[in-house]
Amino acid sequence: MTDTPKTPRFATQAIHAGASPDPATGARAQPIYFTNGFVFDSTEQAADIFNMRRTGFSYSRGSNPTVAALERRVAALEGAKAAVAVSSGQSALLLVMLTLMKSGDAYVASPRLFGGSLGLMRRLDGRYDLKPLFAKGLTPADFEAAITPETRAIICESIVNPCATVMDVEGIAEVARRHGLPLVVDNTLASPALIRPIEHGADIVVHSTSKFLGGSGQTIGGVICDAGRFDWAKTDHYNLITGEWPDYDGLVITERFPDNPFAVACRLFGLRDLGPGLSPMNAFLTLTGIETLPLRMARHCANARTVAAYLKDHPAVAWVSYPGLPGQPGEALAQRYVPQGPGSIFTFALKGGEPAALKFITSLELISHLVNIGEIKSLAIHPATTTHRQLPKDEKEAACVGPDTVRLSIGLENVEDLVADIEQALAQVG
Ligand SMILES: *Cc1c(COP(=O)(O)O)cnc(C)c1O
Repeated sequence: MTDTPKTPRFATQAIHAGASPDPATGARAQPIYFTNGFVFDSTEQAADIFNMRRTGFSYSRGSNPTVAALERRVAALEGAKAAVAVSSGQSALLLVMLTLMKSGDAYVASPRLFGGSLGLMRRLDGRYDLKPLFAKGLTPADFEAAITPETRAIICESIVNPCATVMDVEGIAEVARRHGLPLVVDNTLASPALIRPIEHGADIVVHSTSKFLGGSGQTIGGVICDAGRFDWAKTDHYNLITGEWPDYDGLVITERFPDNPFAVACRLFGLRDLGPGLSPMNAFLTLTGIETLPLRMARHCANARTVAAYLKDHPAVAWVSYPGLPGQPGEALAQRYVPQGPGSIFTFALKGGEPAALKFITSLELISHLVNIGEIKSLAIHPATTTHRQLPKDEKEAACVGPDTVRLSIGLENVEDLVADIEQALAQVG
């Protein structure tokens, strides 16, 4: 007999963490609580819940039992103290930034980020005076060099969309710690099955659950995870988290919720005030998707590696950006952080430039031409004219997106069928 471990291992948590048979009915699957309101026991209880003196459900914009099950599960998988689910990955990053910072503040950002994050950062800079300071390169020293006295956070991805670069999260976390700044890591492309950024020193982890966590490309969502480690009260910069909320009878979040004050601030400001909550139906679908996450990620990585290796040797292909292959830039970081492989989203370029890239995409038969990633189905897109279209030329270059570049998201089909589809599409490129 083997001892039952105190903390169940990852695959077990993916199936069980945060949810249990419904005490009211015995239902084994997580019930979907489609209700906006929850009846109060008394006027005192209602007032206490509103003022955060007591936990409990009141209105589904701020919290809902089905959504809470998803939050507990993602928090468990990431090793976080708490999580807050929101309506999209985009709103997850937005709420993190608005909870941490106010006009006039700045943050250091990776120069290689998802196009939507770069677009959001530019808009918040122009309209709300939240300044992104882009690191000149990808090393921890590059991030450190970009820090100014106004800097309030560091933001990077664990594995970069679209080029699969694996970031040195531990090195960047050390810079953040040295400067008393929280490190925010977008872990969408790795998922906690491949990288758990909190174990490498991250303070806040965000996800687009629309990708690998949901897994089937059926529903949009996002999650914010709070490691619960950052000392917010060391400065008065984070006053939403450490200052008094006069309209909540002088609530000071770090005092009443010392274990996970950032998550509480995100829920109070981000969900109660700003409002982008997740639907219970979407939470249910995402929760169900997560149950197969470890199995899917192993197959995603294996298929991606085979496809990337095939492309690398093809005469029509100029380069492949998949650091899971030997001899690739960033190979050492990929080996250190993701021995299973750097996920299944990567780019490659065609020697025939943009016409060849577009012809390749439209010649695919099995692989779908669409803009999502991280699905069971394999997908392809031309980033320069779609996901990265709105970016200026230098930001496109920093993201390694040229007119000749194709992004693939490799799914779970039989890999020989995938290679055959790519082979016939490349044959048409000439
Ligand atoms: C897709 C994506 C987002 C945005 O998520 P949505 O759910 O589409 O809003 C954020 N970060 C990364 C890395 C992504 O791939």
